[in-house]
Amino acid sequence: MLSSSARALSAINADLHCHSTVSDGWLAPEAVVLRALANGVELLALTDHDEVGGIDAAARVAAVHGLRFVAGVEISVSFAGETIHIVGLGIDHRDPTLVAGLEQLRAGRDARARRIGEALERVGIVDALAGAHRFARNPALVSRAHFARHLVASGVMPDVRTVFDHYLVRGKPGYVEHAWAALEDAVGWIRAAGGIAVVAHPARYRLSTADLGLLFDRFIAAGGEAVEVVSGAHTEDEMRRFASLARQRGLLASRASDFHGEKESPVDLGRCNPLPADLEPVWSRLV
Ligand code: AMP
Ligand code: MN
Ligand code: MN
Ligand code: MN
Repeated sequence: MLSSSARALSAINADLHCHSTVSDGWLAPEAVVLRALANGVELLALTDHDEVGGIDAAARVAAVHGLRFVAGVEISVSFAGETIHIVGLGIDHRDPTLVAGLEQLRAGRDARARRIGEALERVGIVDALAGAHRFARNPALVSRAHFARHLVASGVMPDVRTVFDHYLVRGKPGYVEHAWAALEDAVGWIRAAGGIAVVAHPARYRLSTADLGLLFDRFIAAGGEAVEVVSGAHTEDEMRRFASLARQRGLLASRASDFHGEKESPVDLGRCNPLPADLEPVWSRLV
């Protein structure tokens, strides 16, 4: 199917960023694969936050159904006071350097979740940590999304987006500062594991133009090679902006729904716009 030369490589329905219950997605890894298949995805990467525990199960189901599957991860990074996400694609998810780095990040997440729970208690939301844990299928991976779901379920706020706006973003009572991985470390772990590093949803960062330029300078200097041009988190204007950046910087381009679940994601698996035809798809290096 993929080897067919009749179709341009960039026309393949690739979706190279999504989440399962191993992080803050709603579907188990196996169910993510089945939904991707049903939606016509031809090349899928599962990229849970700071965790690769879903890769084996997803790869097994993908193999059974003949879906091309890429092992991935989405690593949390601190840069210029913002949290940046670096996706790794085509990783050896058993690589000891990567595994150790991710373990360290998850330990930090655990401590952070407790601090978020305490911060929410201070504004009268009791048992927030226990509530978040009820939504986190993986106890080692509590995300702000799990706190948000708990606040929605307990009737504090109507939906997850509103919870973020009122409680979970910087300046709001449930936000706690946290030091994630250094950019160079995250890119280094991905490369150690034989993967390609990708800047995830670049339009979502509140960085000055200078800091965004510096992010890409340092990312490329560290060996990063790709950027999500098409993302479920991008408008068409943002897509065009980062298509230009990919051209200027000579970066490979990725296409990614960032699907978490039906109720929370604007774009379903495999339903993103196509990549601009002149860009080199990152999957030219993965298939
Ligand atoms: P964390 O890694 O724990 O900081 O959680 C970040 C996750 O929360 C992201 O990957 C999204 O799934 C979710 N998230 C972040 N910002 C928002 C938002 N404004 N609305 C809805 N979900 C969000
Ligand atoms: Mn998420
Ligand atoms: Mn992200
Ligand atoms: Mn994501």
